[in-house]
Amino acid sequence: MRVPFQMDLSGKVAVVTGAGGILCSSMAHALAECGASVALLDLNRETAEEQAANIAAEGKQARGYQANALDKDSLRQAHEKILEELGPCDILINGAGGNHPLATTDKEYFAMQDLEEHVKTFFDLEQSGVEFVFNLNFIGTLLPTQIFSRDMVGREGCSILNISSMNAYTPLTKIPAYSGAKAAVSNFTQWLAVHFAREGIRVNALAPGFFVTKQNERLLYHEDGTPTERTGKILAATPMQRFGRTEELLGSVLFLLNEEAAGFITGVVLPIDGGFSAYSGV
Ligand code: NAD
Repeated sequence: MRVPFQMDLSGKVAVVTGAGGILCSSMAHALAECGASVALLDLNRETAEEQAANIAAEGKQARGYQANALDKDSLRQAHEKILEELGPCDILINGAGGNHPLATTDKEYFAMQDLEEHVKTFFDLEQSGVEFVFNLNFIGTLLPTQIFSRDMVGREGCSILNISSMNAYTPLTKIPAYSGAKAAVSNFTQWLAVHFAREGIRVNALAPGFFVTKQNERLLYHEDGTPTERTGKILAATPMQRFGRTEELLGSVLFLLNEEAAGFITGVVLPIDGGFSAYSGV
């Protein structure tokens, strides 16, 4: 893989959760390319191992681990293996996250007649779906941080990167739980940055705009591949008029993790959004 710029992460151990997914597997690749030993964690063992094997095939250091970001025992088990096989964690990327259909309304605006039609309104959102989304994004950031940042205490050059989203600033229609949960991730990023500041552990987050991945594919494209109305609205609200490319996140990942370049940066949430958050729509 080609990285936007080279930096030396040799001797560092990086742990990436959700690393079987599209965005975070690419971040794992970039860290390995810069010399880090990368632990790829995912709920799905197969994808974690497959991505790790892809990296290892390029002669870089990577191993896949099954771990549930919502289960402390599962994280502890992965942590023990990582300590044994790679060493203590210097870099943590909390990438596991996503939305759920049970926490998504069918329509953007409520209309009275929806109550009589087969429309999933705000009133029909399932508590279980909302809890799933809050847990996955917020608790799924907090628990891995508790387990892996313990390794960072008393050591230099350690850093945490969370993944927030555009909807943390202003909620996107239809997805109240995902928006609220990512707002919690941004807020927690600031809280933890302050909490760890005197220990020298930096904590930042990315707020990606719109990138087409497994979790939003069905919202953005119909099954026949034609764009949905939502895609039209997103592109109209993105001054650069396109979706982001996965590799366009990597420069920010490497920059924020780089002690030399970003050693005084902690508690920021960096938008990577083609101008979406800067545009008022007029
Ligand atoms: P993805 O669906 O491709 O990957 C998510 C990965 O997380 C999957 O491999 C999944 O198996 C794993 N996962 C799910 N639950 C888990 C759990 N409990 N424990 C461990 N792993 C678990 O998603 P992506 O689009 O690559 O998203 C990565 C991150 O970026 C997420 O936090 C997402 O919310 C965020 N994000 C994505 C976009 C976008 O446009 N795609 C925009 C903003 C933020």
